[in-house]
Amino acid sequence: MDRAIGHRARWVHPVVTPPIDGGGVLVAGGAILAVGPWREIGPCADEVVDHGNVWLTPGLVNAHAHLELTDHGTIPMTGSFWEWLDAVTDRSRAMAAEDPDGFQRAADRGATMLAETGTAAVLDTTLWGTRAEFAGRLVPAYEFLSFTADEDERPFFRQAVERVEFDVAAGLPCAIEPHTPYTVHPDLIRRARAVADDNHRLFAIHVSELPVEADLSRKAAGPLAEMVAAHGGDPNVYGGCGKTPVERLDDLGVLEHAILFHGNYMAERDLPRVLRSSASVVYCPHSHRHFGHVSHPAPLMLSRGVNVCLGTDGLVSNEGLDMVEEMLCALERCPSLSPDAVLTMATLCGARALGIDGEYGALAPGMRAAFAEIPVSRWPSTP
Ligand SMILES: [Zn+2]
Repeated sequence: MDRAIGHRARWVHPVVTPPIDGGGVLVAGGAILAVGPWREIGPCADEVVDHGNVWLTPGLVNAHAHLELTDHGTIPMTGSFWEWLDAVTDRSRAMAAEDPDGFQRAADRGATMLAETGTAAVLDTTLWGTRAEFAGRLVPAYEFLSFTADEDERPFFRQAVERVEFDVAAGLPCAIEPHTPYTVHPDLIRRARAVADDNHRLFAIHVSELPVEADLSRKAAGPLAEMVAAHGGDPNVYGGCGKTPVERLDDLGVLEHAILFHGNYMAERDLPRVLRSSASVVYCPHSHRHFGHVSHPAPLMLSRGVNVCLGTDGLVSNEGLDMVEEMLCALERCPSLSPDAVLTMATLCGARALGIDGEYGALAPGMRAAFAEIPVSRWPSTP
């Protein structure tokens, strides 16, 4: 029989039920047995862990990271987004040439940074096939780019598929991730979706991160049309349909339960499709600020019932990998959001997106005993 451990804190926030002043959580064998006032939990505990003057919340869910880029350092925005992206690519090429194991070490270090700041689950985009050592739930999202559907471009797609198949055979969670609707040929976006469905794995994609994505999608024009053409792709396959990037993905039939990174420039008309598809949007507050984007539509999305989560994105566009800092940044940047709403985004919404809300994202009997501690002085909410 596992010993019952009573976790005590000034505030316990179960997320799915109201916060408890002087709360407790009873745990045995890594699972939660009961949540309630300490005066009820305490007498049932064989031993006590007193967390002190903190908010004890569910372990945080980081729905978008690039842990393998942790050792690239933060790359400042000195020019355009494309110059920034070139700088990231240059550092990755240098690492691949000089120290190919550097990606795995960086991923492991990033995962440690997450674990130390209360993250219990993470969806981690990887171009290099890393799976970081992480005490919680880590889901690699195998990313690929492929501007044409030709045979010589397909190796990147095949490599992502092989990584998924390897994880499926090993019984591990994972996702497949066409990078964006402007860097992956639509045929391969569709095929990636089929791979996700056939293997019961997640499907993720960066979308509507930049305003120019809409120019490509609607008119097959703008700098992204030039970029597609420069890589041998046909811009008319990537757009010209008068539709938004999200509508295009919906028309490709890939939106169902998709995890949509950023969505900074999603149009209001996209939201019914996102909602109907049970897709999730991942807002990355510090990264969003790093690039100087206009205010994120997260409050509007939430008001329409869209599942909006939070993520750190990579350290290349962030100063840290601390989800509490992301929550505080979201509160500052979206003043209409309440602290409870933001905490829900960073826990339950992320868990829903990752399909793990039976274990993570709330403090309730039967859920995994994964906690985050937020000092009372650091969190604005005192009901
Ligand atoms: Zn990203």
